[in-house]
Amino acid sequence: MIEIDGTYGEGGGQILRTSLALSLVTGKPFTIKNIRGNRKRTGLLRQHFTAVNAAKEIGQANVEEFFMGSETLCFAPSTIQPGDYRFSVGSAGSAMLVFQTILPALMLADGPSQLTLEGGTHNPWAPPFNFVESAFLLCLNSMGPKVAMKLERYGFYPAGGGSFDVSITPSTKMGKLNLMNRGSLVCTKVLAQVANIPQSIAEREALILARKLNVSTENVVVENLTNSVGPGNIASVMVESEFSTEVFVGFGEHGVSAERVAKRLASEVNSYLIADVAVGQHLADQLLIPMALGKGGEFTSVKPTLHTETNIEVIKEFLDVDIRIKQLNEKAWSIKVALA
Ligand code: AMP
Repeated sequence: MIEIDGTYGEGGGQILRTSLALSLVTGKPFTIKNIRGNRKRTGLLRQHFTAVNAAKEIGQANVEEFFMGSETLCFAPSTIQPGDYRFSVGSAGSAMLVFQTILPALMLADGPSQLTLEGGTHNPWAPPFNFVESAFLLCLNSMGPKVAMKLERYGFYPAGGGSFDVSITPSTKMGKLNLMNRGSLVCTKVLAQVANIPQSIAEREALILARKLNVSTENVVVENLTNSVGPGNIASVMVESEFSTEVFVGFGEHGVSAERVAKRLASEVNSYLIADVAVGQHLADQLLIPMALGKGGEFTSVKPTLHTETNIEVIKEFLDVDIRIKQLNEKAWSIKVALA
């Protein structure tokens, strides 16, 4: 039995989600203690509870100590059951993270799946829908599976109520991912969106982003969303290069000016551009699972986060892989996943 300590490294929900995802794929049972042990509110919150429940249904798993707030869990999957599923977080908790928990098993399953997921679609501290659709899935689909997503409703904190559909055509033979060089810059696009708050907020963000990142007006879009239950504001920058696409998202917050949100985002994008790497900090930790389940590969990225370092260790608990980080220069690193 694999034993996971939820306080390891970053000590958040990712340790649980990676364990669930890889337990489903490998069929190896695991126990986890101190779930989200380094977070202020420890244990299973609604998002994690829904992720466990989704993994339980898809893997017809036996789960012990499974209740809201639980800090330990024993998870033993049986056969993966692809098909049609609907999972609802029931709060503004990220539905994207629920999706990422069950995706690895379903992208390798012996039949297609159709999912509907409800909850938060654009949450701070979680992959936003547009990042997953345009950056993460672009890499994943290049490795074999065909995964497509469609956003029905935006879900912002605190109202939630978002919804999206996913179709998954699995691949039994996942390939490699090699992204050492992003190639030349094709285009940078700015998208600033508001829902149920003044459009001027998005306009101010778009103005700063366009100026700081040198984006021409035809590549700047301001949108007033009508398909969101609650209020919300996000600004996104998509950097399309010859061999990779990255998406960076900044979130409007109470008490933080639109200008500040835009400046923070512009500086994140600039660090990526200056480092001249293919993969940003968030995509880096999220590509490791598909690479470890496929034929491995290598990419360049900015300084690895604690999420990345933690994910590497959890992946190694379930899979016989060698994952190495190498610093290339002051601003660039490479991460190599090799099958043992
Ligand atoms: P955890 O904090 O353990 O629940 O994990 C959060 C996950 O969300 C990690 O995989 C992060 O890389 C990812 N994440 C957080 N913020 C973003 C963002 N702005 N864009 C993409 N992914 C993100």
